[in-house]
Amino acid sequence: MADVPHLSSDEFRLRGRELIDWIADYWEALEHLPVASDVEPGDIRSLLPRSAPDEPESFSSILNDLDQIIVPGLVHWQSPRFFGYFPANASPAAVLGELASAGLGVLGMMWSTSPAATELESVVLDWLIELLDLPVAWRSDGPGGGVIQMSASDATHTALVVARHTHGGSPTDMVAYASSEAHSSVEKGVRVAGIGRFRRVPVGRNQGMDTGHLAAMVADDIEAGRIPVAVVSTIGTTGTAAFDPLDDVAEVATRYGMWQHVDAAYAGSAMICPEFRRFQHGLELVDSYTFNPHKWMLTNFDCSAFYVADRRLLLDTLSVTPPYLRNAASESGTVVDYRDWHVPLGRRFRALKLWFVLRSYGAEGIRTHIRNSVRMAAGLAERVESDPRFDLVAPTHLSLVCFAHVAGNEATDALASALNASGRALITPSELGGRRFLRVAIGQPRTEPRHVDELWDLIDTLAPAI
Ligand code: PLP
Repeated sequence: MADVPHLSSDEFRLRGRELIDWIADYWEALEHLPVASDVEPGDIRSLLPRSAPDEPESFSSILNDLDQIIVPGLVHWQSPRFFGYFPANASPAAVLGELASAGLGVLGMMWSTSPAATELESVVLDWLIELLDLPVAWRSDGPGGGVIQMSASDATHTALVVARHTHGGSPTDMVAYASSEAHSSVEKGVRVAGIGRFRRVPVGRNQGMDTGHLAAMVADDIEAGRIPVAVVSTIGTTGTAAFDPLDDVAEVATRYGMWQHVDAAYAGSAMICPEFRRFQHGLELVDSYTFNPHKWMLTNFDCSAFYVADRRLLLDTLSVTPPYLRNAASESGTVVDYRDWHVPLGRRFRALKLWFVLRSYGAEGIRTHIRNSVRMAAGLAERVESDPRFDLVAPTHLSLVCFAHVAGNEATDALASALNASGRALITPSELGGRRFLRVAIGQPRTEPRHVDELWDLIDTLAPAI
């Protein structure tokens, strides 16, 4: 048999060390790199060969092209000057966990295909219940349970599919609701689930869902012969990190027999600090919940936790067992088979990186990271508030600062463009009720107060006078 040109073990060791050095060097260089790439569409493609190589290439030439071709075309999400979207924390501990998972290469689709992958996942998700003060009924030894999915979008889509399946009736008559500030993944999930209608509920003061409106919309839909099946509430909206009143939403959901799913993609990580838990009041009343350790909990993408209050409904919806997946452990009913908890069959060993993070930082280390981000955001919000050129467009409860230039949308957009073009910061412009504003999301592991000071100096210099 001909030889396949695998790297030998010795070469793998050598190249692996080189690559870890390369990543550490990249992280150290990050603060000096322009945060966003300035390449034009097609620039990167034009530097790459049209066809894959026929013959093996050396690892050093691959690494060289990583430097020369790929890095110039990146937005540096791990830069301490990255304040866009929401953070996507790739901490050193998580990256090592990811590497271990890749090296093991196991697929934990069922308990029997790697018992440790399944049991570790259940354990770290139970740990998170305690760390974030989530309802104990969601623990793996209660009626509920948790699973790691790829993204909050997948988790929300899954919840909506379960809501549709569980409810019965014609999907085209079904209606799902979320606030006007809910993430676009909810609307996409309604389509994925085949639910006939999606209705956006107006928000009240501070951008939280107006539950009086919700109740009226649901009553109207019932009157019109439709079937309300689900409502998605948000803890920490994408636009302004606003909070829906979970217990009031739950009251309406219970009254009309709707599934209540909670999307806490960004803000969920903050609940490791007791002082923020007032924002998740009412969680014990909901049916399912998701948050992203891959945003603000020092765990690199992808890692989204999804919990259900009653796992039987999830399993009834998604469990399909062909003969080749039957095994004694599954049939004994004593094990968890995570393939039944989401759409794909194959699944990565994502619990490993979360386990590395939780152990390497400890709860206190993660709390410090969250509190540092919140403190830096509060400092920036204070500066913005005391400058007559700006209005805060939403309160800064956590680490998202939202503000507009008082001169109007043009001045706000000009400031956003100038900041992003400077290469010294990346922020995301957005819009609320027709008013343009700047979103500054703080929470990169490498962001220090001096980076926020420099951001403020830039804002101060680039903002038009009034
Ligand atoms: N929900 C909210 C509130 C978000 O802010 C985001 C992304 O920023 C998402 C959902 C989507 O997250 P994911 O990329 O994990 O699907």
